[in-house]
Amino acid sequence: MIEENKKIVDNFGRAHTYLRISLTDRCNLRCFYCMPEEGIELIEKPNIMSLEEIIALAGKFRDLGVDTIRLTGGEPLVRKNFGYLVEELAKLGVTLKITTNGIMLDKYLDLFQKIGLRKINLSLDTLDKAKSVFITKRDYFERIMKNLEKALEMDMEVKLNIVLIKGVNDNEINDFIELTKHKNLTIKFIEFMPFKGNKWDWSKGVGKQEILDLISKRFGNIDELKNPPHSTSSNFKVDGHVGSFAIVSTITSPFCDECNRIRVTADGKMLNCLFANSETDLLTPLRNGEQMDDIIINAIKTKKYSRDGMDVKMDADHYEKNRSMISIGG
Ligand code: SAM
Ligand code: SF4
Ligand code: SF4
Repeated sequence: MIEENKKIVDNFGRAHTYLRISLTDRCNLRCFYCMPEEGIELIEKPNIMSLEEIIALAGKFRDLGVDTIRLTGGEPLVRKNFGYLVEELAKLGVTLKITTNGIMLDKYLDLFQKIGLRKINLSLDTLDKAKSVFITKRDYFERIMKNLEKALEMDMEVKLNIVLIKGVNDNEINDFIELTKHKNLTIKFIEFMPFKGNKWDWSKGVGKQEILDLISKRFGNIDELKNPPHSTSSNFKVDGHVGSFAIVSTITSPFCDECNRIRVTADGKMLNCLFANSETDLLTPLRNGEQMDDIIINAIKTKKYSRDGMDVKMDADHYEKNRSMISIGG
């Protein structure tokens, strides 16, 4: 039982129990909505958390009430000795999840099964190979599709993450929904969000209502599912389909009221929000052997209620000061 004053609670009374750790800012893809065209300044090696530091920090968060950890990146599976890391993290007794582009998934599925990691978000923006090459600037489509099938055969809980961009993949919305007819997976449509250097412009985005209209026009009745606590998406199912779909409407209808998320970057900086442009350094005090509890508990007190203060609209002066998405991790 964790004492109340040892929980990570913000000034709005929201207890933070969900941690996303970015294992690296390196990636084997170059998705144009995530990675700025000119690239990013990579974190220098000595400033990247070692595996032991990640494990230690994750343990501190667990002791402060975190019960769920999602591993992300960059691409988390390119992190050297990832297998060792995930096995150690599994010993913390938290629910482990991962967000990956799927390229290296085959290498780790058996291990995931062994340690009980079943929740996999796989980014797959298109079902078309040529378009995949256009979006990711790399040619891994077949490999990703094969790994998706493998994960489903192994009964993993798979969600497909799809960032919708007008004129690029919005014409595939119903093809993705078609997949849910017989496959037990969730299709997660994500509204295009602004980060440093990604040339965001909402006219390129596709909003929640537009997505729902397109789906109901083709498939008819859509059931709204009950959202689990702290859900960051609205969840639906087409009548008679095995799988379901979800919409992450960060732009048109943010869901910050019950936010329970904290992020830690690969260089050990704590972010209170996906759009935070201030950070708390955790790695230096960890390396100095300092007491971490109060640093984490105090850091969350500066959290704003919604979108790091961009309550009404996305403000370029704000989000251009953030990190690029590739070094936050989603
Ligand atoms: N490389 C892994 C992957 O792609 O799944 C994990 C890291 S990636 C930054 C995490 C998620 O962020 C992906 O699902 C990706 O589609 C999403 N993402 C990246 N840029 C985004 C943007 N501008 N708007 C919305 N989602 C974005
Ligand atoms: Fe890499 Fe994921 Fe960003 Fe694509 S979305 S560039 S796979 S980190
Ligand atoms: Fe939480 Fe920020 Fe996302 Fe809102 S925008 S749900 S406050 S992380």
